[in-house]
Amino acid sequence: MEIDAAREVRTTCPYCGVGCGVLAKVAADGQVSVRGDPDHPANFGRLCSKGSALAETIDLDGRLLHPEIHGRRAGWDEALDLVASTFSQTIAEHGPDAVAFYVSGQLLTEDYYVANKLMKGFVGSANIDTNSRLCMASSVAGHRRAFGSDTVPGTYDDLELADLIVLVGSNLAWCHPVLYQRIAAAREKRPEMKIVLVDPRRTMTADIADMHLAIAPDGDVALFTGLLAYLGQHNALDRAYITAHTTGFGQALFAASVLDLAGVAAATGLSEDELGRFYGLFAATPKTVTVYSQGVNQSSSGTDKVNAIINCHLATGRIGRPGEGPFSVTGQPNAMGGREVGGMANMLAAHMEIENPEHRERVQRFWNAPAIAGKPGLKAVEMFQALAEGRIKALWIMATNPVDSMPDADAVEAAIKACPFVVVSDVLAETDTVRHAHVRLPAAAWGEKDGTVTNSERRISRQRAFLPMPGEARPDWLIVAEVGMRMGFGGAFSYETPGEVFAEHAALSGFENDGARDFDIGAYGEIDGEGYEALEPFQWPAPSRADPFWPAGHLPLEGGDTQLRGLRTSSSAGDWRKPSGELISPLEGEMAGRPEGVGTTELQPIRFFADGGYFTPDRKARFIAIRPTTEIRTSPDYPLILNTGRIRDHWHTMTRTGKSPRLSQHIAEPFVEIHPVDAQRFGIGDADIARVSSPRGDVLVRALVTARQRQGSLFAPMHWTDQFAAKGRLDTLTAPLTDPISGQPALKHVAVRIEKF
Ligand code: SF4
Repeated sequence: MEIDAAREVRTTCPYCGVGCGVLAKVAADGQVSVRGDPDHPANFGRLCSKGSALAETIDLDGRLLHPEIHGRRAGWDEALDLVASTFSQTIAEHGPDAVAFYVSGQLLTEDYYVANKLMKGFVGSANIDTNSRLCMASSVAGHRRAFGSDTVPGTYDDLELADLIVLVGSNLAWCHPVLYQRIAAAREKRPEMKIVLVDPRRTMTADIADMHLAIAPDGDVALFTGLLAYLGQHNALDRAYITAHTTGFGQALFAASVLDLAGVAAATGLSEDELGRFYGLFAATPKTVTVYSQGVNQSSSGTDKVNAIINCHLATGRIGRPGEGPFSVTGQPNAMGGREVGGMANMLAAHMEIENPEHRERVQRFWNAPAIAGKPGLKAVEMFQALAEGRIKALWIMATNPVDSMPDADAVEAAIKACPFVVVSDVLAETDTVRHAHVRLPAAAWGEKDGTVTNSERRISRQRAFLPMPGEARPDWLIVAEVGMRMGFGGAFSYETPGEVFAEHAALSGFENDGARDFDIGAYGEIDGEGYEALEPFQWPAPSRADPFWPAGHLPLEGGDTQLRGLRTSSSAGDWRKPSGELISPLEGEMAGRPEGVGTTELQPIRFFADGGYFTPDRKARFIAIRPTTEIRTSPDYPLILNTGRIRDHWHTMTRTGKSPRLSQHIAEPFVEIHPVDAQRFGIGDADIARVSSPRGDVLVRALVTARQRQGSLFAPMHWTDQFAAKGRLDTLTAPLTDPISGQPALKHVAVRIEKF
């Protein structure tokens, strides 16, 4: 590609699920600079430390630049032929379920779409799962149980419009920093806004909270079933909403009422006074958003936690209105896009259900596919167990590093080593996973490839290339399509551009969709190459099929870009602009009193669920009856509970952020937080090197003695690998224990012991 040194390219940050808009520019001397996109409605120009350092992480050091077979350089044709023939032969000999793809929330939607289509529609297996399983599968399962679809009912604007924000298991200040900044800015303008943090640790997020509930690990189900019971006892229910728009309330309330307040206090480790104050505040504040993240999802009761939260919002009718609703914040940049194309083993494309024969038939017909997966495939943990047992004989890993990030990581590494045929497509030549690949395929990186991502508020944004692809690197969608064609599936994979893939994805979402399915970007109209290039960030659903806001079938370019964007609506209060064209948030618009020219949105805002209309057969939401349970996993040998998570300046296994000296300055080495009482009990001093052990392995980390940590619990970040710290691979400790419904691993509740090294 030709680089235009004068032009800033509008793209999207590749790290977290906030999905911030980025303006990237390559100077004449080749230096790349980035800044926040003031016109992106997720961040309004803000970036966090990771986003700001993007230019420091895109050098070619360590890049995989050519295909390799068994460690020798190979041509693309040879490598792709080998992948296609080995997968075809394995399927012929052992059946379609003997092969699998393990993909990633780092992939763009177009990559995800093609991989999902190949596996589910042409191989005929659903053995495609993603590292997003580790991130938000419990939210997906909870949404589907309650709403009949995987629909996130909130938007970021709601966070600014709420009077009460309850953050559950979410260190937003470090893990979704720009959302935290938006809340902090809103709070400054509206000091009456209240914030409650529910987290075993006193994280940086607690600095903004009016109340920090240092809950016992996995006490969330008890906390929110207790809240439902409290709402029932204190006349704080919206009975009209419950009657009109939900079913199952009586059973849910009955199940929630098994514990009295003292029982909830015992199960949560909170005092009755703390519970009473939180419950009273929730009951008294109609405009409440409950934000939850991995502390809820990464649990053996993750789906029940999600539904316990949703139950409280349904019971109060606080859903689908500005400033109200349960809101799952996604970890990865494109976990949502992966959900939309069905990139998980238990979902079909375009939010259709793999268990639904009508949906299977429809997708198969749309794809003109020879086969369609007839049942859910193996979820991530099951997939690597099947690999260990020899049931999967050919595995393709795309854009992820499971040897370091999967629970029970040593067992996962052994399973990958034992697999007869492993393909890895990645940007790096040497990760702990890439080194076990029989075939290594060089993938294009952020800044080099084009596509779309969907952030946590259902906003689809473009990622755009501003750098040439180095060496022989190719985009993932093209690599997968080339293999599909070589497997004999010809025209179904003959895409020439990512825009063609996106157009097919959009068309499938609208195919025979009469509104009974939630995901429908086809309603915006057909999109051509020009429209794809110019695509502005937008949220689904479309306002209505009859009134699409791409009136010409694609985004028209003439007439003034600003004016056109001013006509758009988000799914909450709409995109508001000052007469100068500057994009502002709805809160800023309200604060400004909507002067003339501000709030140019003509289309009425569309909201999910405010007046019912869920995606169940009777269009009613489901209460889920949940009994509070407490599972104790500690033992005399492993008396502490380890909670794993992220730090502010690193991302996943540091393959990208580890390149930036600036990001590594924040926290330079792996650590474990321990409460002073536990430190004394186990003979650990501040800054000692400590050995943390579970039945599966051990790590050596620096001890940080702090009262921020709950007594009986430890916290350690999950980023470091042996490349960055000797014996620092935290997921050698974690267990392959999963939520029974979502299959999401319980990465925040691992029984361990600690000793001075
Ligand atoms: Fe990137 Fe997330 Fe930071 Fe935004 S908040 S700049 S998406 S890492």
